[in-house]
Amino acid sequence: MTKIFDEDMSAAFGTRAIHAGQRPDPLSGAIMTPIYQTSTYVQEALGVNKGYEYARGRNPTREALERNVAALEGAKYGFAFSSGMGCLDSIMKLFRSGDHFVVGENVYGGTYRLFDKILRNYGMTFSYVDTRDPQLIADACTSATAAIIIETPTNPLMRLTDIQAAADIAHSHKALLIVDNTFASPYLQQPFTLGADIVWHSSTKYLNGHSDMIGGIALVDDDDLAARVQFILNASGAVPGPMDAWLVLRGTKTLHLRMERHDSNGREIAAWLASRMGEDKVFYPGLASHPQHALAVKQMKGFGGMISVETGSREAAARMLGRVHVFSLAESLGGVESLINHPAEMTHASVEPARRAELGITEGLVRLSCGVEDVGDLIADLDQALA
Ligand SMILES: *Cc1c(COP(=O)(O)O)cnc(C)c1O
Repeated sequence: MTKIFDEDMSAAFGTRAIHAGQRPDPLSGAIMTPIYQTSTYVQEALGVNKGYEYARGRNPTREALERNVAALEGAKYGFAFSSGMGCLDSIMKLFRSGDHFVVGENVYGGTYRLFDKILRNYGMTFSYVDTRDPQLIADACTSATAAIIIETPTNPLMRLTDIQAAADIAHSHKALLIVDNTFASPYLQQPFTLGADIVWHSSTKYLNGHSDMIGGIALVDDDDLAARVQFILNASGAVPGPMDAWLVLRGTKTLHLRMERHDSNGREIAAWLASRMGEDKVFYPGLASHPQHALAVKQMKGFGGMISVETGSREAAARMLGRVHVFSLAESLGGVESLINHPAEMTHASVEPARRAELGITEGLVRLSCGVEDVGDLIADLDQALA
């Protein structure tokens, strides 16, 4: 089970991003953690080994990543997985048939699909509520509620949940608070300081930041809970290969630098879009016109690079998507390059049309993942696309 090195919590965020969890390689002094591309470890004698027996259970490259991200989130333990969905699937194996969950109605489409199409068949029940209102979360809890599962900000409408309020409600029901922190990253939001019990990420996105692998990671602070997650990780086996773990570890070294730029580009582009299209057409928690701007200021250090805009119709959306040159039409987010997509037909295509309409994911909605290019070029690109 990968626990952070205790001294790794003493430095500030940027120093931790670069150094936490990593030690010069004992064989050569290599400053970069080697990619331990191995399935097994030779044992000295029967029952005598260096703590590594088989790579599903432990791999030193993966452990460096787990320590690094745990230190960034301010948790004791990290567990890396082969994808964000593999990570959530393993987290859900902490629970059992009969358990009830209160879930944000606006969570990632794949999260909803896992719950609605798979886990429901195993006797788990889910109530989807508008978690912007803590009272609705509290009202949905029952004596069987085992966890409250939120994502903030949400995809693609950038709605927020008060993490501290959700944690208080969960704990008053002896339930866990599970937070998907993918959109904000640990640089902009620290759910453990607000009472979360498990934080997880699609490391495919901001943690990696370079759009070159798929992965997930769960962070846990409680010793007993961590032991249970480690057991599931090894028993279910949705682990990442060492090369992918290494790519995320390379990514997190610049997380603080990238997030600063995603955030400043996001703020400038959102302000420009609001003046161009009208404040009510732009969904970005950094805008003073966002209905939850005060909460964003309270629980986030910045607002990031994710923005959605309402163009008014599928035709207008298609025109914008067809004209961009610097933004690329693609699913995913959080990389250094700017991406643009159409949630209704791309990221949220698996959500039934009636439910999409209820959630406000219209045919005219376009989502931007602002990268770290020069902001003038990004605005010029959107300007000609909207002309
Ligand atoms: C992408 C994403 C996931 C799923 O992660 P994968 O790595 O694609 O399996 C989960 N939550 C959010 C918010 C995401 O953006």
